[in-house]
Amino acid sequence: MAGTAVFAELVDEDGAFKYYSYGEWKKSSSGKSVAIINPTTRQPQFKVQACTQQEVDKLMDEAKTAQKSWAKTPLWKRAELLHKAAALLKEHKVAIADCLVKEIAKPAKDAVTEAVRSGDLVSYCAEEGVRILGEGKFLVSDSFPGNERTKYCLTSKIPLGVILAIPPFNYPVNLAVSKIAPALIAGNSIVLKPPTQGAVAALHMVHCFHLAGFPKGLISCVSGKGSEIGDFLTMHPIVNCISFTGGDTGIAISKKAGMIPLQMELGGKDACIILEDADLDLAASNIVKGGFSYSGQRCTAVKVVLVMESVANALVDKVKAKVVKLTVGPPEDDCDITPVVTESSANFIEGLVMDAKQKGATFCQEYRREGNLIWPLLLDNVRPDMRIAWEEPFGPVLPVIRITSVEEGIHHCNASNFGLQGCVFTRDINKAILISDAMETGTVQINSAPARGPDHFPFQGLKDSGIGSQGITNSINMMTKIKTTVINLPTPSYTMG
Ligand code: NAP
Repeated sequence: MAGTAVFAELVDEDGAFKYYSYGEWKKSSSGKSVAIINPTTRQPQFKVQACTQQEVDKLMDEAKTAQKSWAKTPLWKRAELLHKAAALLKEHKVAIADCLVKEIAKPAKDAVTEAVRSGDLVSYCAEEGVRILGEGKFLVSDSFPGNERTKYCLTSKIPLGVILAIPPFNYPVNLAVSKIAPALIAGNSIVLKPPTQGAVAALHMVHCFHLAGFPKGLISCVSGKGSEIGDFLTMHPIVNCISFTGGDTGIAISKKAGMIPLQMELGGKDACIILEDADLDLAASNIVKGGFSYSGQRCTAVKVVLVMESVANALVDKVKAKVVKLTVGPPEDDCDITPVVTESSANFIEGLVMDAKQKGATFCQEYRREGNLIWPLLLDNVRPDMRIAWEEPFGPVLPVIRITSVEEGIHHCNASNFGLQGCVFTRDINKAILISDAMETGTVQINSAPARGPDHFPFQGLKDSGIGSQGITNSINMMTKIKTTVINLPTPSYTMG
């Protein structure tokens, strides 16, 4: 369980979890800690160190030095260590899952899945890195007009340096390793700032990398509130790249960060378009899974349903029938709907619900809330003047907008400032392709709910949903830069065959 057995060294004498620097677990000199509130009990569950700027400076220096020798470590050796970390993550899945249940109220089974999926991601990354980083390009000069064959150009991928990784609360382990593993295989060092809710799960994950035996200073983990230590980290001169996943904070970071590569995975308002010829049973299952899994706290959750009026009644009835079957309660009981992460999140969701009520949305269920626990709610007849039509509730509340043409659905989707994913349900593949092309989103799923995985698929958001593309291969490439060496020959050289 959290902070016991091999994880006991993470806890200081006051019961606070330590931060990780230069291969050691340390207590911050600030003497301050940050409380992590259990979303279910709403009582303090854990506490983590509030790191100081001096501590950040020190570990950044160490990260810079460690990276230089790591880049000289053969690729197959880097991969070997990542495979060890992957195995340790899986071995300690129960302890990691225990933290996820208590810190972010993730249903017990999903919490274990997150730890296992993270191990798989690290292994895949090691394998993919060995393949793609071992390859380069060879160009010759005479393919460009005016040149003889006198220049041979060799390209290879080299690391960026120190990568700052900032994941969000909803997948604090998986979205941390999706940054850590590509960074390390590509020869970078990593400084991780985990979300406050989810920090202890992330510290347990970091300990698995520690146990795998990575060099001192290569991996560091700074804890503390993002609002206090965040700017210092993101504007730190030693940072060579920021990989961030979260909400609008990412937009602010991108304005402040210097001339360094950014990978931003931000919010979404994923639309689900249902055509008249759709398989409504399939659509309803996907809407419920996509809209209500982990209580709607997923970047790729279905966040608005746009259904053709002629099939809307039938679809809403099918979705309603499934929503009543969702279990509601504590994550320990593996309920479908568990408390949302904080009281302020619950208040925000309630604000959207009340706005929709005032403006005349149809409530398919009675609105019910106890503490952070909000019962699943489907809102029918939502109109564009309601906040819920555009804003991301990040909770178990799903709006349905009835449309009279496909164009209306596409227009609503494209009028959003987000552009993460979308989905379309139809039996007509030709229409599906046309709609996919017309939707201004990073991905469109045909006949399935939006989803981030499998983790090797490219994953990107347009507009306010992000910068760059993730997915294992893209992340490895993003965390490298191209280096070329040109061999100049005194005379043209041609192979005769
Ligand atoms: P958030 O409030 O933006 O926080 C994300 C991370 O940023 C946390 O680690 C947070 O630390 C840190 N942070 C806060 N202020 C900072 C600052 N000034 N500088 C640097 N870091 C700072 O997001 P969240 O509530 O954790 O996550 C929910 C959001 O993430 C939703 O909008 C969701 O759509 C999005 N999301 C997107 C994806 C994607 O791939 N597109 C995936 C998952 C989630 P603290 O916790 O200490 O504040």
